[in-house]
Amino acid sequence: METGVGISEDLNGDQLTGLSVVQTTSKDGVRRSSATAYLWPVRHRKNLQISLNSTCTRVIIENKIAVGVEYYQNGKFLTVRAAREVIVSAGTIASPQLLLLCGIGPKKHLDSVGVRVIQDLPGIGENFQDQIMYNLQYTLDEPDIYDNNWAAASEDLAFQTGPVSCNGLEQVVGAVASKAT
Ligand SMILES: Cc1cc2nc3c(=O)[nH]c(=O)nc-3n(C[C@H](O)[C@H](O)[C@H](O)COP(=O)(O)OP(=O)(O)OC[C@H]3O[C@@H](n4cnc5c(N)ncnc54)[C@H](O)[C@@H]3O)c2cc1C
Repeated sequence: METGVGISEDLNGDQLTGLSVVQTTSKDGVRRSSATAYLWPVRHRKNLQISLNSTCTRVIIENKIAVGVEYYQNGKFLTVRAAREVIVSAGTIASPQLLLLCGIGPKKHLDSVGVRVIQDLPGIGENFQDQIMYNLQYTLDEPDIYDNNWAAASEDLAFQTGPVSCNGLEQVVGAVASKAT
């Protein structure tokens, strides 16, 4: 802050520059995946069906409306229809890939690879950016708990607290690189 770097309350929000506390999906000092944090605790809900080892291969679109998905499981292609809506959340790379395979994306690109265009939507599959990152490391003048790695490791193993229970980063300064043209 003394150097003029501002504060970002939420680096996963719309304020991408500034000093911020690192957010992690963690509970009780242990990192979790989205699946273990959100899905597994509610897996017994009657209105939830989880299909394991299934790879979505296509969103089924009728009259420009997503009505279901096709997926591959145990050597078979299966389909499921949506009661209300289809939410694509396959991550940074696979989400746009699925949309492109269905014909949703920039027309010029879809034409060039022989995919029938359902919706000309520039931007799909574009603007993928690296998250450039560098670390600043300092030697501490005063001894602290980090000098005793075994004590810290034992504390983490026994109680999931202490410096080792941190995800490795506590604070981060976010910056937006100028967009390449
Ligand atoms: C090393 C690393 C460290 C990170 N640390 C942090 C952090 O400290 N704090 C933070 O806020 N963010 C962090 N992130 C970013 C964060 O993990 C992502 O922003 C977040 O996971 C995105 O969630 P998502 O649900 O959109 O996608 P994902 O978590 O990528 O989930 C997509 C899921 O879809 C599945 N999938 C893909 N294709 C298909 C398909 N065809 N059919 C079926 N399933 C499919 C994948 O297997 C995956 O399980 C980190 C990322 C990385 C890689």
